[in-house]
Amino acid sequence: MTLDFSKNDLGDIVEADRAHIWHHLSQHRQYDLGVDPRIIVEGRGMRVWDAGGTEYLDAVSGGVWTVNVGYGRDSIANVVRDQLVKMNYFAGAAGSVPAANFAQKLTQKMPGLTRVYYSNSGSEANEKVYKMVRQIAHRHHGGKKWKILYRERDYHGTTIGALATSGQAQRATHYGPYPDGFVMVPHCLEYRKQWDVENYGERAAEAIEEVILREGPDTVGAIVLEPITAGGGVIVPPAGYWEKVQEICRNYDILLHIDEVVCGVGRTGTWFGYQHYGIEPDFITMAKGVASGYAAISCSVTTERVFDMFKDDPDDPMSFFRDISTFGGCTSGPAAALENMRIIEDEDLLRNTIEMGDRCLANLQALMEKHNVIGDVRGKGLFLGAELVADRKAKEPLDEKKVQAVVADCMAQGVIIGATNRSIPGLNNTLCLSPALIATADDIDQITNAIDKALTNVLS
Ligand code: PLP
Repeated sequence: MTLDFSKNDLGDIVEADRAHIWHHLSQHRQYDLGVDPRIIVEGRGMRVWDAGGTEYLDAVSGGVWTVNVGYGRDSIANVVRDQLVKMNYFAGAAGSVPAANFAQKLTQKMPGLTRVYYSNSGSEANEKVYKMVRQIAHRHHGGKKWKILYRERDYHGTTIGALATSGQAQRATHYGPYPDGFVMVPHCLEYRKQWDVENYGERAAEAIEEVILREGPDTVGAIVLEPITAGGGVIVPPAGYWEKVQEICRNYDILLHIDEVVCGVGRTGTWFGYQHYGIEPDFITMAKGVASGYAAISCSVTTERVFDMFKDDPDDPMSFFRDISTFGGCTSGPAAALENMRIIEDEDLLRNTIEMGDRCLANLQALMEKHNVIGDVRGKGLFLGAELVADRKAKEPLDEKKVQAVVADCMAQGVIIGATNRSIPGLNNTLCLSPALIATADDIDQITNAIDKALTNVLS
C-alpha cells in the first residue's frame, strides 16, 4: 500500500493536530506526555492505515458503527461529486432530487412509515422527535402527555436534550441541569437480572408500565428505545419484550420511538433492528450507517398519522412543525445514502451480515470455552459484544483498565476493536464488534483470533 504523503508532511500534520485539534472523547494530557495523536490517512474495504503506515483491520466500522459498506467506495464519491456540482444545497423548505428519491426508497423498506425529516446527526434526529412529541402534547393533548421515557443503559446523543435521555450516567454527568420531563425506565439485560422470573422479557417490559402508572399515563407522550442497545453493552432484548412494549404503548396511547442510529441500514442483518421483532413504531431515527460516513445525514421517519397532526389548521401559524436543520438541506447526504443502499442490495450485504454475524458469534462462543473471563456473548448480525468478568459465577465486572488493555493488545496486533467506555460506572466491561457488512470469513477469524490472543496476553 502506498501512502500519498511523504514522512515529513505527516510529521507536520501530527504536530498541527497536537497543537490545534481537540479530539472527541479524549483526555489530552496523554498527548502532552509524548503519545502521538493517531491520524488515519487512508482506508480500503475493511482496512485503514495510520500516519506511520501501519495497517489495521477495522472491526468497528470507523470506531462507532458507521462505515457499513467499507472504505474507498468510488461509486459513492462519484455520485456525491456529480450531485454537488449540479446542486449542492438549498434550505429544506424546498426539495431536492436525491432527498425525494432517498425518502421514497427508504420508506419502501419500512412498511407503515411514510415521512422523512432530514438533519445531520443522530442526536439531532432524536431531538427532532422529542420536539414533535412535545408539539403534539401542546396541540393535541391540552399540554398533557409531554413526558418522554428512556431506558437505563441506552444512549441517544450528545446535545443537552438528547443527554437528558441518556441511560448512561457517565455520559450525562457534569453537563446538567437537564430539562424536565424525561424519565428513566429499567434496562432489560437478562444477564444482569433485576427480577428472578421465568419470562424475563415480559417482566422487563412490565417495569416500563410501572413507571407509566407512577408518572400518570396522561402525562407520558412517548418512549425512546434502542432496538438493541449499543454503547450500553450490546443488549439484545429477551424474547417477549418487544411484543409487551408495543402492547403497553397502545394501551396508554404512548408513541413508540425506536432509535436506529446504530442498528439502522443493515447492521443487524435486516434493514432495521426493529424488523426482527414485528413491531410497528411511530418514529424511527437513523444516522451513522445511512451513508456509511461518506456524507453527514440523519433521518427522523414517522407515519402519516403523526404527520397529519402537524397540518391540522392552515390559518394557524403555530400548527406546523416549526423546526429547521440548515445542513438537512445538503444534497450530499441523501445522494450518498441512495448509493449506499444500492450497494447493500446489489452486493447482497444483508445476507452476508447474517452469515458473518453467525460466524463471529460462534467464534466468540468457542472462546468462552477457553477464557473464563468471557461471561456473556450477545448480538445480532455484525453487531456483537462479549462481556468480560473477573469471576464468571459472581459476574463481577472485569476492571475497566484490563478491558482497555485487551483493546490495546488487539490494536498492537493490527485489529481495531471497541469496548464500552465512559458509559456506565463499574460496567464498562463489554468488548464491542461491528465490522463492515462486507466482512469475509477470514476477516472475522482474524478479529476473533486477535481477541483470543489478547485475552491470553493480558490476563494470564
Ligand atoms: N443514538 C445512538 C443509539 C447512538 O449510539 C448515538 C451515537 O453513538 C447517537 C444516537 C448519537 O448520534 P450522533 O453522534 O450522530 O449525534
